[in-house]
Amino acid sequence: MPEALLQIRGLNVHYGAIAAVKSLDLHINPGERVTLIGANGAGKTSTLKALTGLLPASAGEIHFAGRSIAGRAAHELLREGIAMVPEGRGVFARMSVVENLHAGAFCRSDHDQVEQEIEHWLELFPHLKRRARQPAGLLSGGEQQMLALARALMSRPRLLVLDEPSMGLAPIMVEKIFDVIDQVCDSGMTLLLVEQNARLALQVCQRAYVMDSGRISLEGPSADLRDDPHVRAAYLGE
Ligand code: ATP
Repeated sequence: MPEALLQIRGLNVHYGAIAAVKSLDLHINPGERVTLIGANGAGKTSTLKALTGLLPASAGEIHFAGRSIAGRAAHELLREGIAMVPEGRGVFARMSVVENLHAGAFCRSDHDQVEQEIEHWLELFPHLKRRARQPAGLLSGGEQQMLALARALMSRPRLLVLDEPSMGLAPIMVEKIFDVIDQVCDSGMTLLLVEQNARLALQVCQRAYVMDSGRISLEGPSADLRDDPHVRAAYLGE
């Protein structure tokens, strides 16, 4: 067994007296694509927030590449190699598209390479190229999602964490975004994906965790979960 890139053990997250995440165990091996699915309010976003330093965990261990990262701030985790695209994208609305991409690369010193990669993303997403100097807040939802993804990738993360990348997007945009996710994963990126669209998540990822009322209720290869009667009834609408 390879050493897991990410190992979470016994994670608990509380909002005051409300327990949102209860004794969660999860691991991701290097190069793996893993999804966390579950109904609204199951605790998926709270798990990601605790992982990426946006919310304190009330208990548990989080190790990344063998080192404890519990309690580290989001910008420190970015330096360690964990980049998250939050639900609702979180682009810097007043900054231009290009400035957003530069912001994603704040921890890099290979400036020539950064410029080349910005060009690469602008070529890949012509919508962003046309609006390269405009404030990101003027972009459509789908364009902002593309920008948020490209900005996260500008940090050259080892682990990409995506919270609901398909939310609110037209099917054509979802296809485009997931094409890019596929490409970066094929080149070796490790992925943790939270998705309401369980069908899509189970297609894209090799392994899945199902979360229910703050706990992991099922886990296994995506192909097995697609055949599981409970998953089919509860999450795939069959
Ligand atoms: P969704 O798919 O709707 O985003 P989720 O699985 O990501 O759901 P969380 O957002 O992690 O679920 O929420 C888990 C639980 O914690 C829910 O019961 C939710 O009501 C509660 N919760 C989330 N954020 C807060 C908050 N800021 N204050 C209090 N309770 C919260």
